[in-house]
Amino acid sequence: MKRREFFALGAALGGGPWPATGAEHPRKDPPRGGTTLALDGERQFWREAAHYQKLPESRVECRLCPRRCQVADQENGWCGVRLNERGTYYTTVFGRPVTIANDPIEKKPLFHYKPGSLTLSLATAGCNFECLFCQNWEISQFRPEQIPARYGFVSPEDLVELAKRQGSRSLSFTYAEPVVFFEYALATARASKAAGLPGVMISNGFIESAPMDELLQELGAVKIDFKAFDDKFYQRQCRGTLEPVLRTMERIRKAGVWLELVHLTVPTLNDDAEQAKRLCGWVLEKLGPDVPVHFTRFHPTYKLKNLPATPPATLERQYDIARKAGLRYAYLGNLPGHEGENTRCHGCRETLIRRVGFTVLENRLREGKCPKCGEKIPGVWS
Ligand code: SF4
Repeated sequence: MKRREFFALGAALGGGPWPATGAEHPRKDPPRGGTTLALDGERQFWREAAHYQKLPESRVECRLCPRRCQVADQENGWCGVRLNERGTYYTTVFGRPVTIANDPIEKKPLFHYKPGSLTLSLATAGCNFECLFCQNWEISQFRPEQIPARYGFVSPEDLVELAKRQGSRSLSFTYAEPVVFFEYALATARASKAAGLPGVMISNGFIESAPMDELLQELGAVKIDFKAFDDKFYQRQCRGTLEPVLRTMERIRKAGVWLELVHLTVPTLNDDAEQAKRLCGWVLEKLGPDVPVHFTRFHPTYKLKNLPATPPATLERQYDIARKAGLRYAYLGNLPGHEGENTRCHGCRETLIRRVGFTVLENRLREGKCPKCGEKIPGVWS
């Protein structure tokens, strides 16, 4: 795509992830590791990777996420977007977004971060998890060469320029998993921060500490998908582990970067009250009462089409557990029009922000404070 055509995307943004054209997805079974298809034209998206160690016999060890893949020459790491060529490790998705959209920040969801604003949102292919309930599996579970490079090469500066033209107030790395396009996300976050547009990361939090600390220098906010307070759930449903995610959330808080959490509540798998109590207790103890927790409704998708959508009563129970545990800001998600979408003052319970779905109907905050009792409300409001 030529630069002129890229910026002319304009009002067309909002298409969301593949398949925006209505075309059939090229394949159904996600690949893991193995040899890449080094197609002509793909090399323009290769950059030497950050955070890896060279090993004997042209092997490398990736130090980006706790999976720590050891990768032989001409092979990919587990996430499918990092390739070893003769002992040099490459990201294969630098400047290769597969989706770009100008979303309400509420869609991430972030409810205490610039409410009512737009955020230019992008993703590349690839993920370091395979969640059986992934809503964006059409991009997260595939290699870049399996999804057309519909925008061509898009530099960090191009994204910043597009965000400015679209009236976005931040730039979000989202939909799939920004950890696996670390180099592109970091370069874009630096460029957007310099232009006064903070970067926002929507992530599973499965990342090593050193790269996370680099990102935290540049980001304005992070949302972590806190999938369960249960390592077995992470192993069985996501092919990951819990402990590194806990460590990441603590680092974000310590760095002073705004943090919100989402718990997608899946019937029979992570919807029991005891687990919710443990999760909320951990959040309160390690992150404090001001970190918002969104309990979100599951809809059957990807490899969990056999389960029903989450009953609203289950989410309401999670909400009550969070409030009783002492968390000041619990929310319900994927239940448009529910009272649990609104922000209420933790001091006097006055309704401060009314929402329906991703739309802010009313924002009564006055310089970040409750207009009734004057309590300062945690968040980034302007
Ligand atoms: S980022 Fe990808 S290649 Fe690196 S350790 Fe994680 S899954 Fe493996």
